[in-house]
Amino acid sequence: MKSAFLTEPKHIEIREIEQPVPKAYEVLVKIAYCGICTLEQRLYDGQRKIFYPIVPGHEASAVVVFVGSEVITDVKVGDHVVLDLVNRCHACPACLSGFSNLCENRYKKGQRVLGAFSEYMAVRPEQLQVVPDDLPLDQASFAEPLSCCIRSLRRIEVSLGDTVLVSGAGTMGLLHVKAALAIGARVIVSDIVHARLEDARRIGADAVVDASDTNTFTTEVKRLTRNRGVEACIVTTPSLTAAETAFSVLAVGGRLNIYTSYSDKPVLPIDMNTIHRNEFVVTGTEGRSESDFYTAVRALANRKILVDDLISSVYPFEKIAEAVEAALAGKLYRVLVKMGD
Ligand SMILES: [Zn+2]
Ligand SMILES: [Zn+2]
Repeated sequence: MKSAFLTEPKHIEIREIEQPVPKAYEVLVKIAYCGICTLEQRLYDGQRKIFYPIVPGHEASAVVVFVGSEVITDVKVGDHVVLDLVNRCHACPACLSGFSNLCENRYKKGQRVLGAFSEYMAVRPEQLQVVPDDLPLDQASFAEPLSCCIRSLRRIEVSLGDTVLVSGAGTMGLLHVKAALAIGARVIVSDIVHARLEDARRIGADAVVDASDTNTFTTEVKRLTRNRGVEACIVTTPSLTAAETAFSVLAVGGRLNIYTSYSDKPVLPIDMNTIHRNEFVVTGTEGRSESDFYTAVRALANRKILVDDLISSVYPFEKIAEAVEAALAGKLYRVLVKMGD
């Protein structure tokens, strides 16, 4: 079978390797689609390094082709599935306290990390969820990114009645918008790119605000919230100004999630009294737990969150390097790789 190996930054080669032989407790799946996430982009351009060579890919949908004899779940050959490829040990303090997304052993040697840019994968049953046959497999590949947004919204307790600011209208920003709207929140989106704000409005954002001028931005968010500010804010863009201005529009008791990661180690000049006197809650989120993933799968399967308008382009597997370059150019929403025929 074919697998795409990143051998060094900016170099992906498709190699012919042995098809994995599933163990008795594993399931063999044929990958259908795999999205190119920020992680893959950062691995490709060298900003992030795990090890070389590595087969990237973690936003995958697939079809089951073989079920091992010791698999106890009811997954069957032919089932459409989505993959949750985090290695969770289920034994470390992080796993045992609801932070399995940060499992202490997830990158330990000897395990497969990522790996979905392959024609086939052997996975453990807990690394997949079955989706209905009528959910298109390209849309199903959004289960992973959507689950990270769900974790983000859960961590800052976004609920019905809240006004939420989503700062940054890229793919992850807009997925946050869709999830927050599905929960029943009122959503304001900010960005400095007009076309992105228009897209945010088109997918249902209640209001959009241009963030290019910080004073106008603050005034406008205050106006939209009767001077109160927003109950919750998710920062999805690595712009430091975005994080800094987010504090200026939080309501008393406001919750802020730093969803984005940063390539350097920026320091935020925040007046501690602002946090103290307003009882702000500031957190970050990375990845998703199995529960977040399960919620995302059901939201997609039940068509409570539709993602077809976030698929910008689909490349065939042979053109994976081109697909990553296109994603890196930054103008598109999700770029998918179609793995099979
Ligand atoms: Zn992802
Ligand atoms: Zn663990």
